[in-house]
Amino acid sequence: MPWSFRSSTPTWLRMSSCSWEMGQLHHNPGEETRLEMDKFPFVALSKTYNTNAQVPDSAGTATAYLCGVKANEGTVGVSAATERSRCNTTQGNEVTSILRWAKDAGKSVGIVTTTRVNHATPSAAYAHSADRDWYSDNEMPPEALSQGCKDIAYQLMHNIRDIEVIMGGGRKYMYPKNKTDVEYETDEKARGTRLDGLDLVDIWKSFKPRHKHSHFVWNRTELLALDLYNVDYLLGLFEPGDMQYELNRNNVTDPSLSEMVTVAIQILQKNPRGFFLLVEGGRIDHGHHEGKAKQALHEAVEMDQAIGQAGIMTSSEDTLTVVTADHSHVFTFGGYTPRGNSIFGLAPMLSDTDKKPFTAILYGNGPGYKVVGGERENVSMVDYAHNNYQAQSAVPLRHETHGGEDVAVFSKGPMAHLLHGVHEQNYIPHVMAYAACIGANLDHCAPASSAGSLAAGPLLLPLALFPLSVLF
Ligand SMILES: [Zn+2]
Repeated sequence: MPWSFRSSTPTWLRMSSCSWEMGQLHHNPGEETRLEMDKFPFVALSKTYNTNAQVPDSAGTATAYLCGVKANEGTVGVSAATERSRCNTTQGNEVTSILRWAKDAGKSVGIVTTTRVNHATPSAAYAHSADRDWYSDNEMPPEALSQGCKDIAYQLMHNIRDIEVIMGGGRKYMYPKNKTDVEYETDEKARGTRLDGLDLVDIWKSFKPRHKHSHFVWNRTELLALDLYNVDYLLGLFEPGDMQYELNRNNVTDPSLSEMVTVAIQILQKNPRGFFLLVEGGRIDHGHHEGKAKQALHEAVEMDQAIGQAGIMTSSEDTLTVVTADHSHVFTFGGYTPRGNSIFGLAPMLSDTDKKPFTAILYGNGPGYKVVGGERENVSMVDYAHNNYQAQSAVPLRHETHGGEDVAVFSKGPMAHLLHGVHEQNYIPHVMAYAACIGANLDHCAPASSAGSLAAGPLLLPLALFPLSVLF
């Protein structure tokens, strides 16, 4: 049942902007457009702080909503007893994720992201690392290597060897140092990074049973040509690092998020015991960090389309779908704009203080801070509707920061009502596990006679509530 969708960012604000943008893309004024996530019957708020940070990062938050415990910023798949970057505080403090609980219950599992597959969010589903930046051994300090910690790409292939679907970016972390990239042959930055000389794609293949069909693809054409009835395991790595923004996407080499989700569900749905799928629209976050609101919002619209596609392919009779963000951003929308105004446009008045126009979208901090001749830049002199326009910010920073406010959680399907009200972020996976009868707390799943028995799996669920094809 549950499967979870997650996007770096949507708070209420962001989702509202997203619906305007979606409406305006369809040549409507925009305000009245309903996003797919707006149609979900239950809404809650999630408190996103990390154990050591008011304004969180994606590593600590992913650990919360995937593993069910809050963690320190920068750490993935470990409890708060692990200190960032300190390898020797990892052992004994590992925590497991809902992806692992689903796999242990015999369900199929998948990860789809627009970032690197070893980026913070997906890595909390399978890795235990004191530092989210340990993408491959090349990024690890010698001390951590000598203490026996493993990089996140290595852990992706070794920790849970039968993840059915892995799709996103991150090719370079899978190959030996300096190996030429298959797509960007002349780009040195796209080359393999691994100091240990391993070919993790080969290792991924070698771990799959001989009689099963496992496929590695690196471009959209190969992906869409697959006969999915004959795919048991799929590894798709479409870029050396993160995938391209949707607005810049190459339609030959890069699938969209909704295309990846469609393929993933088709593969995962073959398991009669159900599935868990984590979908991340991870570049929403990157667009905001760059102050590029248009990029961020187009990512969010694509995420919403993926949610709609997933809704068509599943039933809320037996599938719990949860849509949330890991954290917010310091992104605002204001200025008393009239109905129908482009959301990337100007407020209808000049500032009554510096007598200059301003855009409706602004950031609290970030790279869009611009002073020209000692004064705030006059935005009417620049192309503020450009895809890469960086909206003005109050404080100059090379990278805009996350925000600390609560984020929304939308849910539909079995037990979705448990996500209603204001919750700690780490409550979320416990709801999904409870609904799917996986993980540690199974007392409510079994008939009274065998209550508490781990052997009482999901198939003993009351059928009225969960048909056999229950899924995750
Ligand atoms: Zn971020």
